[in-house]
Amino acid sequence: MAVRERLVRFRSFWIFPILAFFLLYLTSRAEGESRLNDLFWLMPIGVLIWTLLEYTLHRFVFHIQLPLRDPRMREIVNASHLAHHASPRDRTKVLVHPLYGLVISTILFTVLLAISGSAFSAAGVITGIWTGFLYYEAVHYRVHFSLSESGFIARQRRRHFYHHFANNKRSFGVTSPLWDYVFGTALPRS
Ligand SMILES: [Zn+2]
Ligand SMILES: [Zn+2]
Repeated sequence: MAVRERLVRFRSFWIFPILAFFLLYLTSRAEGESRLNDLFWLMPIGVLIWTLLEYTLHRFVFHIQLPLRDPRMREIVNASHLAHHASPRDRTKVLVHPLYGLVISTILFTVLLAISGSAFSAAGVITGIWTGFLYYEAVHYRVHFSLSESGFIARQRRRHFYHHFANNKRSFGVTSPLWDYVFGTALPRS
């Protein structure tokens, strides 16, 4: 694959880190004192929030069947996920469009800011959320397109392909089955 094509397909992997860098830099300057050490607990909170977002977005939003007449509108709301289900071998339909990520991030940032009252804290948590999101994107992509037959990716693939090809009402977690166990949507024992 040409470098340019890679940069476009995997654009979230450079857009979000650059954004995180500037957001942290600007909010820390605005608050006057350096709180970089706080990232040690702000980012893990964000990663944890991500794991729940990965589950809830996939279960309640990506599979949503809205009575919208315009198919393009439906695609936007479900982050093209149903298109990914229709053609899981299509490499251009696996990753979430960065604009979708940015809209959700803006809502999350506003909520975090309202709760914490600190723009830097909100930026620290959202950086953790983005870290979790990019990890999810990488795992989801590899689950579909890496040939690895053993280890972590193969285990996740078994669970994710069950969701794709056996029962799309189960196994919503892609990077971990944690919330599937909590909410009772894990794979049936075989
Ligand atoms: Zn799905
Ligand atoms: Zn998939």
